[in-house]
Amino acid sequence: MTSLDDFARDKLERLEAQGLRRRMIPTDRFSETGARRGGRDLVSFCCNDYLSLSHHPEVIEAAREATSRYGTGSGGSRLISGNTPLYDELESALARWKQTEDCLVFGSGYLTNVGVIPCLVGKGDLILQDELNHSCLFAGGRMSGATVRVFRHNDLDHARALLREHRAAHGQCLIAVDGVFSMDGDLAPIDALAALAREYDSWLMTDDAHGLGVVGGGRGSSFLGPVKSDVPLQMGTLSKAIGAYGGYLCTSQPVADLIRNRGRSFVYTTGLPPGTIAAAIKALEIIERDPELCARPVANAARFCAALNLAAPESPVVPVILGEANRVMEASAALQQRGYLVTGIRPPTVPDGTARLRVTFSSAHTHAEIDGLVAAMRELGLAG
Ligand SMILES: *Cc1c(COP(=O)(O)O)cnc(C)c1O
Repeated sequence: MTSLDDFARDKLERLEAQGLRRRMIPTDRFSETGARRGGRDLVSFCCNDYLSLSHHPEVIEAAREATSRYGTGSGGSRLISGNTPLYDELESALARWKQTEDCLVFGSGYLTNVGVIPCLVGKGDLILQDELNHSCLFAGGRMSGATVRVFRHNDLDHARALLREHRAAHGQCLIAVDGVFSMDGDLAPIDALAALAREYDSWLMTDDAHGLGVVGGGRGSSFLGPVKSDVPLQMGTLSKAIGAYGGYLCTSQPVADLIRNRGRSFVYTTGLPPGTIAAAIKALEIIERDPELCARPVANAARFCAALNLAAPESPVVPVILGEANRVMEASAALQQRGYLVTGIRPPTVPDGTARLRVTFSSAHTHAEIDGLVAAMRELGLAG
C-alpha cells in the first residue's frame, strides 16, 4: 500500500467514526416526485427541482430539439466557438425577468460565484459574508484574496459593526449573502442590507439559488417587497427550480462585460450543452406564464409546517434540526422504510450540532403525499 492510499484511508476512517462519511446512492428520479432506490419507489422530499420542470414535457421536448439541431456538446468555450445562439435568448430572458441590463450564464452556480467574486474584489479589499452562506460564496471569497469577515446569521448589527471597524482600511467592499438560505430556508433581510451597502459604499451580491421560480412571484428574493430591492449583483443557478444546469449573474452591462473578459470560470471552460440551455429557456418561459405554479412549493411547505406546528416557511426549504449526525441518518433511514426520501444534512454542510433533515417541497407534491410524510414524522417522534 502506498502512503497516498494510507492517507486517504486514514481520513475516511476518521469521518466514519464521527458519522460524517458520505456515500452516493444511485437514485432514479423516474417521475416528478418519485425516486427509486435499491428497487424501492419512494416519494422524494429532498430535490431542489421545486417546480418539477426537469420532468416537464415541454422542457424535455425543447432539450431534445436543441440537441438534434446543435449536437450534444457545445464544442468550445463561449469566447471561442461554444457560444450557441441559444445563449443570447436565455440571457435576454433572464435579464428581463430580473429587470437588469445584462446577464451572463456560467457552467454552474458554483462556477458563477468563484468566477464573479475574484473579478470584483482582491487583495486589499473586503468581503462580508453571512455565516450560513453557501460554500461556493466562501470559495469565491477565498480565491479573491480579499479579507473575508463573517457576520452572525442575518445579524445586521454585527454586519454594521464589522463595516464600521474594517471598511475604511480597505479598497472595495462586497457584501455577499444567500437570498434564500439553502439549508435553513429563511430569507436574508435584503432591503436592510442594501441600505447598509449604500451607507458604507459597498456592493451587495445575493445568491438566489433557492429564490428563482419560488419566491417573489418567481422572480426571486429581490422581488419580495413592493419595489425591487437594490441589488447590483443577483446570481443564481439554473439547476434548481429551472430544472436544468448552469448558473447566471444578472447585473449591469459594464459589470457583465468585465466578467466576460476577466472571469476565469467563465472564460476558461466549455459552454453548456445546447440541450441544457434550451431546457432552461423553456423552463423560464413556463415560470413567467404561470405564477400559480411558482406559489405552490411554498404553499406545500406551509401545509407541512402547519401540521407539525413548525414556524411558517419563507421558502420551499424546511429544516428539521435534530442535532447529532447519527441521529439524522437514523431518522432518514426510518423515513425511507416508510416510503419517503429525505436525506440527512450533516457538518460541514451545516454547523456542528445542527445536523438536520432538510425537507424540500415541489409544486408536484400532492396533499396526500405531504400528509403521509407528516404522519410518518409524527410516528417517529421527529416533529410535531
Ligand atoms: C446549489 C447552490 C449553489 C450551486 O449551484 P450549482 O448550480 O448547483 O453549482 C450556489 N449557491 C447556493 C445557495 C446553492 O444552494
